Amino acid sequence: MKKDSYQLAIVGLGGMGDWHRDIIGSIEGLKICGSYDIREERQQYAAEHGLHVYHSLEEVMADENCDIVLIATPNQHHKEIALKALNHKKHVVCEKPAVLCSADMAEIMTAAEENNSLFVVHQNRRWDEDYLTVKRIIEEKQLGEIHRIESRVHGSRGIPGDWRQLKECGGGMVLDWGVHILDQVLQMVPGKIESVYAALTYVTNELVDDGFTALLRFAQGPEVLLEVGTSNFIDLPRWYVLGQNGSAVIRDWDLSGEIVLVKDWNLKDAVPVRTAAGLTKTMAPRTADSIVTEPLPVVESDIRDFYKNVRDTLDGSGEILVKNQEVMRVIRLMEAIFASAEQNQVVGFE
Ligand code: NAD
Repeated sequence: MKKDSYQLAIVGLGGMGDWHRDIIGSIEGLKICGSYDIREERQQYAAEHGLHVYHSLEEVMADENCDIVLIATPNQHHKEIALKALNHKKHVVCEKPAVLCSADMAEIMTAAEENNSLFVVHQNRRWDEDYLTVKRIIEEKQLGEIHRIESRVHGSRGIPGDWRQLKECGGGMVLDWGVHILDQVLQMVPGKIESVYAALTYVTNELVDDGFTALLRFAQGPEVLLEVGTSNFIDLPRWYVLGQNGSAVIRDWDLSGEIVLVKDWNLKDAVPVRTAAGLTKTMAPRTADSIVTEPLPVVESDIRDFYKNVRDTLDGSGEILVKNQEVMRVIRLMEAIFASAEQNQVVGFE
């Protein structure tokens, strides 16, 4: 039933819970009815910020005023809280990664269906402007047929020293950042993935992966390389895209980069480059007359559209953008990455 305002309770008022508190305040038709955190200091923080404080999860569930439960706890608690909320006929917005395995996701999807409730995962990096810009480059076909996409996120601080370092909490970089960059690629490249090859790194941490490299082969192309690193003191570009007619690069979060297109493949003359071992024309840079450099077709976005879409879906005036089947595919892909890394083998996917 359409409501003037949907009431949302935050469960887990840590870093991300607080981010949601901030953003929900600016969405017409959504209101926060309170929050619950297992840590007393966060309960106090909630009170200081004028939130109604629930003293247990059961209290949240029993509140008939609460329409939506937002789950922003460490990853290992998502499933239990989600099932509880869905079985209390609440809608659920859940932080990523939704759950730790595909069997758990299937259980949640069944519970959502049986209770006629919405379960939606906060895949907020679908609103990243660098991602949307690469998606536009691919859709506009300026580069011709794309044969390779490389998507990387590099940091140099290791894994944060909290639950993210613990396997039992769903720590590690595949589940933390991998879930975002895999979701983005599946949104921009259509078709089946034939195979996956992945390797995990343990440079700064022995308990969970602090980075990974994964190579996805799409049945109809392209080949996609994904990489997350947390001990990279020199970053490689955020995006690197190769097509038949040229290349595109987005170097960082502030969207510096360009597209370079070939004017005429036959204009191949080059000034040879001298290397210690001799001259090379093959690897010599292009001369200016044979290429054209274009600015990136930057796409602007508004992160609040995630919550507007949740509201519109509940109202019946919109269709949910982050679909559970898509989330399931990403979770299955993360399982394939773990399996490939463990076996040191290429694994089939679809
Ligand atoms: P955090 O440690 O800062 O906050 C988690 C909070 O949950 C803490 O305050 C903790 O006391 C509380 N908590 C733990 N167990 C609880 C329970 N059973 N019931 C109620 N409260 C509980 O962690 P964070 O960085 O805010 O991450 C929380 C979630 O948000 C994780 O799933 C993480 O992956 C996700 N996250 C998403 C993004 C994004 O961009 N979408 C960014 C950061 C984190």
